[in-house]
Amino acid sequence: MRHLLFLLFCITSTAIHAQKIGISIFNELNLQTVLVTPVSGQYSLIMGNEEFLLSPNQIVYISKVGDSLRVRDMSSNLGTWKRVSLVGQTGTDVVRINPISPAHPARIYDDNLGFYADFGRLMLVNLVEQNKYIAGVVESESGPSAPLEFYKVQAILARTYALGHIERHQGEGFNLCDAVHCQAYKGKSVKNPDIIKASKETAGLIVVDETEQLIVGAFHANCGGETANSGNVWLKSHNYLVSVTDTYCRNSPSANWELRIPLREWKIFLNEKGVDTTALAITQYNQVLKNREYTYNIGGKQIPLSDIRTHFKLRSSFFSVEVVSNSIRLKGRGYGHGVGLCQDGAINMARRGKSHTEILEHYFSKVRIVPYNTLPQIPQLEDIATVE
Ligand SMILES: [Zn+2]
Ligand SMILES: [Zn+2]
Repeated sequence: MRHLLFLLFCITSTAIHAQKIGISIFNELNLQTVLVTPVSGQYSLIMGNEEFLLSPNQIVYISKVGDSLRVRDMSSNLGTWKRVSLVGQTGTDVVRINPISPAHPARIYDDNLGFYADFGRLMLVNLVEQNKYIAGVVESESGPSAPLEFYKVQAILARTYALGHIERHQGEGFNLCDAVHCQAYKGKSVKNPDIIKASKETAGLIVVDETEQLIVGAFHANCGGETANSGNVWLKSHNYLVSVTDTYCRNSPSANWELRIPLREWKIFLNEKGVDTTALAITQYNQVLKNREYTYNIGGKQIPLSDIRTHFKLRSSFFSVEVVSNSIRLKGRGYGHGVGLCQDGAINMARRGKSHTEILEHYFSKVRIVPYNTLPQIPQLEDIATVE
């Protein structure tokens, strides 16, 4: 409850221009001290009943001391507090956070921040307008020079994930963390204005399946010309994550790869999988387009290709095998697990004028793109802060 009250305080202590979402930032660091510097806009530092207006580029240190926070600027000690919040006044406020202990490169964040001590560390929660958060996620997951329609695709998938997991860290006092456990988020989107534009222009949109459930918006770098069935790669199968032919990614740099493995190592691996290799002749094994396979059948065993990919750290499980003297030559296609959206293909579709809807419908079968607030069974952001 104490986190919740704090969160509510942060949300209600500023004018609500748009729905905000609470993200634990630097979540994988055992933070003890950070340096906080306003970059633009106007910030207030709120500690208990005290409010300090920060001047531009004023430096504030916040350190965990026991279960409290010590706050100081360059000239004076601003006291020790249980909770501190940094609240933007203009709606376009940006702040730099520089972890000092442990040291880590600084990042910049939009909107507000809440600070408290918990889990033996200094916790930082970025209370950020949803579309700015989505833009930050898209920037972490895609390159800086893709077309607008591709960024819209990534924004819709990021939002689908975020709203589907909005209660994931609820007991810890925030909605989502900034690590890959939730979605990678490294702060404000700055590399390409189209990323922010894509997030705004798709505001509220998510992807649902035939039963109006939010989809698992899986994606990968390159499918090699044919995406994979979720049920053959993962334990769980989804009827919208089924194999589709993809002609859009086949000329990308990561569409093809090749690797040699000593025959001896290959046989050791097969032995570990229960194959008797003493008198085994390893023959050519081909995976061809439109016939993606999921097991390598040899010596009476069916070895999941994903196991081979993991063991030899291969770019993908879409490969052929041939013996070349004392080694195995793997000729592979694509990069990644192959399930869902192929990023190289989606970028190319966008370059050829396809819309974000056409792209999503190409990679995800029988899905619809809808505003999330039209789906009553999905928790709405306004409700989150009132639920403990
Ligand atoms: Zn998480
Ligand atoms: Zn592809």
